[in-house]
Amino acid sequence: MAINWTQADIEKVVSAVIENLKSDGVRTAPDTWDASGYGGRKFVGVYADMNDAIEAATCGYKAIRAMSLDERERIISVIRDLCRKEAPIMAEMGVKETKMGRVAHKIAKHNLVADKTPGTSDIVAAAKTGDYGLTLTEMAPFGVVGSITPSTNPSETVICNSIGMIAAGNGVVFNPHPGAIATSNYAVDLINRASAAAGGPKVLVASVIKPTLESADVMYKHPAIRLLVCTGGPGVVKSVLSSGKKAIGAGAGNPPVIVDDTADVRKAGKDIIDGCSFDNNLPCIAEKEVFAFANIADELMDAMLANGAYKIDRAIADRLVDIVLDEKKNPKTGVISKVVSRECVGRDAKVLLAKVGIHVGDEVRCIICETDFNHPFVQHELMMPILPIVRVKNIDEAIDLAVKAEHGFRHTAHMHSKNIDNLTRFARAVETTIFVKNAPSYAGIGFGGEGHTTFTIAGPTGEGLTSARSFTRYRRCVLSESFRII
Ligand code: NAD
Repeated sequence: MAINWTQADIEKVVSAVIENLKSDGVRTAPDTWDASGYGGRKFVGVYADMNDAIEAATCGYKAIRAMSLDERERIISVIRDLCRKEAPIMAEMGVKETKMGRVAHKIAKHNLVADKTPGTSDIVAAAKTGDYGLTLTEMAPFGVVGSITPSTNPSETVICNSIGMIAAGNGVVFNPHPGAIATSNYAVDLINRASAAAGGPKVLVASVIKPTLESADVMYKHPAIRLLVCTGGPGVVKSVLSSGKKAIGAGAGNPPVIVDDTADVRKAGKDIIDGCSFDNNLPCIAEKEVFAFANIADELMDAMLANGAYKIDRAIADRLVDIVLDEKKNPKTGVISKVVSRECVGRDAKVLLAKVGIHVGDEVRCIICETDFNHPFVQHELMMPILPIVRVKNIDEAIDLAVKAEHGFRHTAHMHSKNIDNLTRFARAVETTIFVKNAPSYAGIGFGGEGHTTFTIAGPTGEGLTSARSFTRYRRCVLSESFRII
């Protein structure tokens, strides 16, 4: 089912949902919350010690193993309902806690998770029959999954991963991002409330109050954890892949966009701003830099300006570089490198502009600027509504630079063009997990595009857009000389 939502549609749905919740007497903005509870209520399934959390998730796993597929699907159905109903709460909490992103877009992301995360129907068996009988291959659970989740889509990732992992028959314990712990644990509690409401165990999934690198290490080494699933930047993906356990790594991206001179340039300008500014550029799939044919670059920027972009000149862009990127010294090598400032990630465009003395209103969604290829805005995954535009001579130069800017992450790339040769050449050269043609980036995760959604896109380990089947192990059962009916 394609959901062709425009910005205006999203705002309309959000206001309607918030009004409904208010009239039902349900609070939309929590007054008091922390990592362990909400509004005076303790979160269910959240523990002080990772070992206790793993023990609880193991009990959850045993309960799931005893359930029929129907029972699992009933729990998932309540998770979907609660996710839709409480999307405004989680969206507001997420923005308040992390100071990143936009409430309306986070509501849309929760609705997407509720609507388009596959459940048990994703688990299918394969049969092979022949002279020797029947061989059946089934997708079996791993056991208890250890899941590390990011600050950028905190509750979305917890709920999306939980649906897939439960559908596959696994238990799950989370080590969420410390910067989004209350929002992530709210989502853990939501899963457990859904389980209890659907007749499942009170604690189906678990988490910790104070996640640290040490608690992650306990998770890596614990014998009950059979699969690690990590959604985050390069550091954490590397750490799970070095754990010695089966791991799924969903890592960083730096998605380039090419716009050639056969594109519908006005639509491309709007699509790129819609995608780039969605949740203030936090999604790892969002447009991060544009390579535009020189002969359409001005028209493209005009279209962007007509759709909520604000253009800054090179001098201001260079000043902004010093604000949005910090210097960090590697303690081992002493090498100093630039890293994104956590004070700026996911902030509104108007907040970033105010830092260089430019005061604008909410109508500005994205900052654009013309740069060269080596500019830090092109090279760094900023996760802010700042979009550099590089003029290119032709498709050869566009592909060459876009592939380099993607840094070999093989995550996501976008192109606006009607030339199928150009589209095919770029898709082949960039080798990304997601390649979106002629649409905003979020079409790649099923928002206004076909296909299921996920917030764990596993490029490095190859599962791609994860779903329930990604969290299974294949088991074969052979019946000799029978069950072939032809
Ligand atoms: P992050 O890398 O800062 O943190 C991710 C998680 O890993 C957190 O829970 C953090 O506490 C933990 N962590 C960090 N280093 C660790 C280590 N050495 N050992 C154990 N745990 C560790 O991520 P973030 O800033 O919240 O998210 C943004 C990054 O994640 C971006 O690079 C983005 O592209 C990427 N991301 C990727 C996907 C995907 O599906 N591929 C989805 C969302 C985010």
